[in-house]
Amino acid sequence: MQKLSDYIWLNGEFVPFEDSKIHILNHSLHYGSGVFEGIRCYEAPDGPAVFRLDDHVKRLFKSAAVMRMDSRLRGNDKSSENDGWGEKDIEGATLEIIRRNNLTECYIRPLVFFGEKMGLDPKGTEVNVMIAAWPWGKYLQKEAVKVKISDFTRIHPKSSVMTAKISGHYANSILASTDAKNHGYDEALLLDYKGNIAEGPGENIFFVKGNQLFTPNKGSILPGITRASIIELAQRELGLRVKEKDIKPEEIKEFDEAFFVGTAVEVNAIGQINNIRLTGEKEGPITKQIRELYLGIVHGKEKNYEKWLSFVSEKSLQK
Ligand code: PMP
Repeated sequence: MQKLSDYIWLNGEFVPFEDSKIHILNHSLHYGSGVFEGIRCYEAPDGPAVFRLDDHVKRLFKSAAVMRMDSRLRGNDKSSENDGWGEKDIEGATLEIIRRNNLTECYIRPLVFFGEKMGLDPKGTEVNVMIAAWPWGKYLQKEAVKVKISDFTRIHPKSSVMTAKISGHYANSILASTDAKNHGYDEALLLDYKGNIAEGPGENIFFVKGNQLFTPNKGSILPGITRASIIELAQRELGLRVKEKDIKPEEIKEFDEAFFVGTAVEVNAIGQINNIRLTGEKEGPITKQIRELYLGIVHGKEKNYEKWLSFVSEKSLQK
């Protein structure tokens, strides 16, 4: 694999990229039992800053609790019996790995995973934590993407815990996106078990009609941190009405615009879904407004939203 950065943080140590290895009989490799995050750091006027780091770390800890990985991650439990890492430790390690690698704009991937153990029960094996960071540009390569409604249904909410970001969930995502790409589309869109629109393989979705935004209800989706940010920003800063509701594929033709949101994808227009053309190859005007606002905020251009930024350098932290 091409070297992405100099160091990876692994269980408290800064391990050179080439040496960050695990045993082939790793439980999380075989069974998808890891939990992870995707976070982005952006260049801002006061130096690089990580967007909503605390919220991502909180979700990581919640996901880890779902998989009962609390031997290593103690959350906010300060009792002396538990010597695992707390949320602040992981936030600090995230900032430190960006500094160690001399990165500014980058993607950050924390992963909590079990050690080597065969058999489904992870009991008795250790829990590991790693944080990698590397420069990663635009996730989808087009101004407006062409999306295929997948034949693969999003995981039934009673089959797992959909608020947790569990590695195994991504088998469903990979099947859907690979199939969409094999059919000449840029990305997939998954329906939930009731036939309502759920989400992309790694993105939440919004639709636009007039000055109203619509996004699928929680339940069968990963309720994204970007989704929550966009709901807040659209209402507060752009005066748009936002409604969370069940959306059927038959309703798509009634919308003016659609867009994906997520840490990796940021805000990306959807020009076409199956054979329904929305804005074609171009981004619509509301999507553009939302994308520009979002990118302004992550780049530290809006003082009101600096609360969402964690500055990487100690100098800018002390400001
Ligand atoms: N849905 C799925 C399935 C995802 O993998 C992601 C990316 N984490 C999202 C939605 C968007 O979440 P966030 O905005 O928190 O990155």
